[in-house]
Formats: sequence, C-alpha cells, structure tokens
Amino acid sequence: MTQSPPTSIADQPPLDHLAQTHFDYVIVGGGIVGVSTALQLQQTYPHKRIIVIEKESELASHQTGHNSGVVHAGVYYPPDSLKAQFCRQGLKDTLAFCRQHGIPFEQCGKLIVATDELELQRLRALYERCQENSVDVEWLDVAQLRREEPNVVGVAAILVADTAITDYPRLTRVMAQQFQSLGGQLL
Ligand SMILES: Cc1cc2nc3c(=O)[nH]c(=O)nc-3n(C[C@H](O)[C@H](O)[C@H](O)COP(=O)(O)OP(=O)(O)OC[C@H]3O[C@@H](n4cnc5c(N)ncnc54)[C@H](O)[C@@H]3O)c2cc1C
Repeated sequence: MTQSPPTSIADQPPLDHLAQTHFDYVIVGGGIVGVSTALQLQQTYPHKRIIVIEKESELASHQTGHNSGVVHAGVYYPPDSLKAQFCRQGLKDTLAFCRQHGIPFEQCGKLIVATDELELQRLRALYERCQENSVDVEWLDVAQLRREEPNVVGVAAILVADTAITDYPRLTRVMAQQFQSLGGQLL
C-alpha cells in the first residue's frame, strides 16, 4: 500500500527523540527548494543522515503555497545561459515527476499579450528569444488572438505551448514522502 504524503509535520517525532542524533545535512525550510534539495541529497548519498527543519506545522505554507502554479518554459532567459537550460530541463523533469506520481498538471500554454505599440516591440524581442531558446512559440495577430482567447484585448500575442500549471504544495509533499521513504527526517 502506498503511504500518503505527509500533510503535517506536527506528526513527526518530537525534538527530544532527535537531540542525540548526528546529522550530515540539516536543511532549514520545508518549501519546494528545501524539500527538493533534501530529496536529491538523500538520493545521491543514501547513507547520509539528512533532516529538514520547518518552522510551520505544514510544508510549503509560504511562497511555495502562494505562487501562480506555473511551470515555466524558459521564455525570458538569455539564450544558452544556465538559467535558460535549467528552466527547459526543469519543465521536463517537473512534468515527468508529476506523471510518475499522479500529481495533476495541465500543459495549457501561456499567452503573452501586447496591448500597444511599445509592448509590440518588446513582444517581438520575446518571440525571437523563444526561438533562440528552442521554446515552442506561435505568433498570433489580433484576429488569431481573438479566436484563441476572446476575453483578452491586445494588438498581438505569443502563445507558448509548453508552459504548464501544477499543484506545487502537493508536489512538495510527494517529494517529502519520497525523502522520508529513503530515510530522511522532517521536523
Ligand atoms: C507572486 C509570486 C508568484 C510566483 N509564481 C511562480 C510560478 O508560477 N511558478 C514558479 O515556478 N515560481 C513562482 N514563483 C517563485 C516560487 O514561488 C519560489 O521560487 C519558490 O516557492 C521558493 O521556494 P522556497 O522553498 O525557497 O521558499 P518557501 O516556499 O517560502 O519556503 C521557505 C520555508 O522556510 C521556512 N522557514 C523560514 N525560516 C525558517 C527558520 N528560521 N526555521 C525553519 N523554517 C524556516 C518557511 O516557513 C517556509 O516554509 C512566484 C513567486 C512570487 C513571489
């Protein structure tokens, strides 16, 4: 039977129980960055003792639980930069993790809309950047934009097909479950 993801770290062993324990890595903060780091460390070093310390009673209750839930495709970063590579790889890895663990996601795409002539120039630059970054992008004129999204008013848009949305708090909890199943501790 699969163990359900920990929703509350208040259920974890009390501090006394851990006071005498030596840890190789202590990670402060149980948002997506801390939990993801912990999981990858535990996977890389299965024999190391690793703990995540979170001050709230729930994981992902700060920024991770209050973002837009977008899995970005890498539109904005300079071509060939590490950020651009990281973002493209991150999109693939995030969606693969979601598929593997049954976490809902939707690859609904994203519209970036220009509403005047100045924004149109900026949009052209973004469109070129997408192409340089090998991001799947489509230019929409006014009529195409109206067909794609009748409630949006603009002079042109780009449609970034790869962008997705997901549930980052749930993703964090599933990563925490994986971390614990490998011997990691949450406090
Ligand atoms: C408005 C907005 C929208 C965003 N939208 C997106 C988006 O759509 N897609 C995207 O990929 N990114 C988005 N981001 C960025 C993303 O949300 C953050 O990069 C990410 O959530 C940061 O995760 P984190 O683990 O570093 O921080 P947090 O989720 O804030 O986790 C930090 C944790 O540390 C704990 N903590 C702090 N101090 C201590 C302490 N002393 N002891 C113990 N625990 C402590 C906190 O309680 C918290 O749980 C958005 C950001 C903002 C501001």
